[in-house]
Amino acid sequence: MTSHMITAPHRPQSGYPQSGYKIHSYGQAIAGLLLSVWLSGCNIGSQPAPNQSAANGAAKPSVVSTSTILADLTAQIAADEVQLIGILEPGTDPHVYEPVPADSRDLEKADLIFYNGYNLEPGLIKLMNAAGGRAQKVAVGEVVPPLQLQKGQRETVPDPHVWGNVKNVMQMVTAIRDALIELSPDDRDRFTQNAAQLTAQLEELDQWITQQIQTIPPEKRRLVTTHDAFQYYARAYNLDIIGTLIGISTEEQPSAQTVQRLVESVKSAQVPAIFAETTINPALIKTVAQEAGVQLAPRSLYSDSIGAAESDGDSYIKMMVVNTQTIVEALGGKVTPFQPQRTPPSASQK
Ligand SMILES: [Zn+2]
Repeated sequence: MTSHMITAPHRPQSGYPQSGYKIHSYGQAIAGLLLSVWLSGCNIGSQPAPNQSAANGAAKPSVVSTSTILADLTAQIAADEVQLIGILEPGTDPHVYEPVPADSRDLEKADLIFYNGYNLEPGLIKLMNAAGGRAQKVAVGEVVPPLQLQKGQRETVPDPHVWGNVKNVMQMVTAIRDALIELSPDDRDRFTQNAAQLTAQLEELDQWITQQIQTIPPEKRRLVTTHDAFQYYARAYNLDIIGTLIGISTEEQPSAQTVQRLVESVKSAQVPAIFAETTINPALIKTVAQEAGVQLAPRSLYSDSIGAAESDGDSYIKMMVVNTQTIVEALGGKVTPFQPQRTPPSASQK
C-alpha cells in the first residue's frame, strides 16, 4: 500500500556502489571524513552553503535517517517535502554496520539527522559525532524511557529495540514530526496531517497485535529468538521471553555453554517453536531447535530492519504485522488479517 514511499529514501545518488565497497577500519573512515571536511572547508567564507545557494525553493533540505525503521517513518511523515536518505539498507544489521565513505558525506551534508540511539548503531553514531556539520541530530529512539538490560555480569545498558512496542513508535513519530516542522516550518500542516494519520494506523496496529497474541494458548505465550531484540514487544503484548542465543548486540558469539543452556530452557519451557531473524545468520538457532526437538518457525522475524522493497515486511507497520503473524501461527494461535480503517499517509496528498 505504501511501498512506493519506502523505496525512496535509499541513497539514490550515491557515487559509490551499493555493495561490495567496505572500509575495514574506523581510522580509514575518519581519515576520509577529515579529508572531505578539509576539502569542503575551502568553500567556507562569504560563500553561501550549497543548500542555501539554491534558495528559490529548488533545493529541499536533506534529511538522513540511520536505520531502515526510522527511514520508513520519516518517509511517511515527510512525504516529498525533503530529500530523504536512509543509510542502512534493508536487511543490514545496525549493531555491526561499518560505515562507508558515502555515509560520511551524507552525514556532513545533512540538515537533519534522525538516529535511533541507545547505541543501536554504534559505528554510525561515532561517525556522526565526528562529522560535526550543521545538522540537527535527533536520537529518535531515546524519546522513550529505555528498558535496562543486563550485559555481562554487572553492567546494565539501555535496550535500543524500542520499536517493539508500537506505543513507543507513536512517541517517535511525534519527535520526527516536530523536528521536521522545525526544519521546514512552511510544511507544518502536511507533516502534522501525515503524522496524525500514521499515528491512527499505529493505534490500530497496537490493538491488533494485542488481540492476536491473546489467541495463543496462555501456556505457549513464550518467545525464544536469536538476539535480545524483543523485550519491548514481549512486555507490551504479554509474552514471556524464555531465552535468547545472544544479547542486545549481535557482536558477541555465544559460547557452547550458552547454546546448551538455551537448549535446556527451550526443552523445559515446552515452547512449540523458536525463531530466527532476518538480519542474523540462522545456523546456530537452527542447531538449538534441532537439539531441543522443537520447530524453527518457517519464517524469520524482522528484528532490527524492515524488509527489502516489495517484500512482505517493507515498512514498519508491515514488519510488525508479519512478525506477529509468524509468532502467533508458530505458537498455536489464530491470526485475523490486519485491516486498518485509516488511509495510509502517502495516499492523501493535499
Ligand atoms: Zn538488535
